Amino acid sequence: MSAKEDIIKQVQDKDVEFIRLWFTDLNGILKSFAITNEELENALDRGMGFDGSSITGFQDIEESDMIAMPDPETFAILPWRMQGNVGRMICDVLKPDGQPYEGDPRYVLKRALAKMKEMGFDHFYVGPELEYFYFKSPTNPEPLDTGGYFDLTPLDLASDLRRDTVLALKKLGIRVEYSHHEAAVSQHEIDIRYDDALRMADNMVTYRLTVKEIATKHGVYATFMPKPLNDEYGSGMHTHQSLFNGDKNAFFDSEDPYHLSEVARSYLGGVLKYSKEITSILNPWINSYKRLVPGFEAPVYIAWSRSNRSALIRVPHYQPGREEATRIEIRCPDPSGNPYLQLAVTLMAGLKGIEEKCEVPEPMEFNLYGLNEEQRMERGIETLPSSLQEAIRFSEESELMKETLGPHSFKRWITLKKLECAEFNRQVTDYEIKKYYPLL
Ligand code: GLN
Ligand code: MG
Ligand code: MG
Ligand code: MG
Repeated sequence: MSAKEDIIKQVQDKDVEFIRLWFTDLNGILKSFAITNEELENALDRGMGFDGSSITGFQDIEESDMIAMPDPETFAILPWRMQGNVGRMICDVLKPDGQPYEGDPRYVLKRALAKMKEMGFDHFYVGPELEYFYFKSPTNPEPLDTGGYFDLTPLDLASDLRRDTVLALKKLGIRVEYSHHEAAVSQHEIDIRYDDALRMADNMVTYRLTVKEIATKHGVYATFMPKPLNDEYGSGMHTHQSLFNGDKNAFFDSEDPYHLSEVARSYLGGVLKYSKEITSILNPWINSYKRLVPGFEAPVYIAWSRSNRSALIRVPHYQPGREEATRIEIRCPDPSGNPYLQLAVTLMAGLKGIEEKCEVPEPMEFNLYGLNEEQRMERGIETLPSSLQEAIRFSEESELMKETLGPHSFKRWITLKKLECAEFNRQVTDYEIKKYYPLL
């Protein structure tokens, strides 16, 4: 049975009345419209037209006709709906002539994956660790518990929430490896088993919605905002990556002390070299930079290591016999971004590293937060951009960014983020009122 026939059968057998068609805007915010089951066959054959002019980062008003073309591989039934079954499919966005729309983030990732294939690799495997918070209300970040890393009940009031979320993810065909309380109060993590990048990006947007929907069902609010509380850890999204040829891990070399192949080393070198240019995608909001400060297990310095969690990239210890698990862990991304773009820019930086045969610097096996500026300079350790404004300055000059996003999305990304910075710069914050108003 073809994927199309299979979907039509499932929709009939399970009485699915509505099917939601999903895609993301440039910021990675999920967009959706529903079609009825009568339209399904038509949608699978020809896609469904929609007006793209109001989607952030999409078309200008004079060229607004877009087509959402569902990817039949992504059909699933949403497990949190109580009344009647509702299906969903993730879509590629096409132009009216049926060609891919260059502003579609999913297409940006597909283009990066095509480049990877041209360079002779078959798979880009990704394992993300998305962290998030539960709060009592959507308007005010009041924690549910006072638990910390790996705590159990009674300090972890959310274990039922996590369990329901893991079960819902399973119903959506997303395999979970771990779930646990994270280091901050009311902070959690559910880790999806690694998979091919395109499927993973689809799974990441699905995961975020699932976490939020299950939270709502339990009367609480879940957020992927990178730093909701001043003096607590922020939420990161460590991203494990490797390249494979067939079932052979191109990152593995038994002779190397870190078990990293030449391919892995130059990929790592590329991600380090281009990290500043791609930070605006990996950490895309003003708030993202409140997380990237010393002391909260988030990276600040551009360096790599095996065990030191203050570095930008970590190479997990090799477990004998598990060569398929040799990988790098990029620790700066946060879970608030556009996963399609986040995976695309890291892949393209790594591939550039391979093309340029980038050298990797010495690993830094000590706590980098402990270094003063002079000591860092001596070792040639640079820092990540410390604000969105600075990150955009690096992105704006970046050929790699332009190539990866394509001229259309590149231009829109820079404009969008500059507007955000300008808006923020006009705000007088609570901090300023508290600090300056009584004093000055
Ligand atoms: N929350 C930390 C971050 O911001 C990561 C903590 C951890 O998983 N070890 O990246
Ligand atoms: Mg983890
Ligand atoms: Mg974690
Ligand atoms: Mg990790």
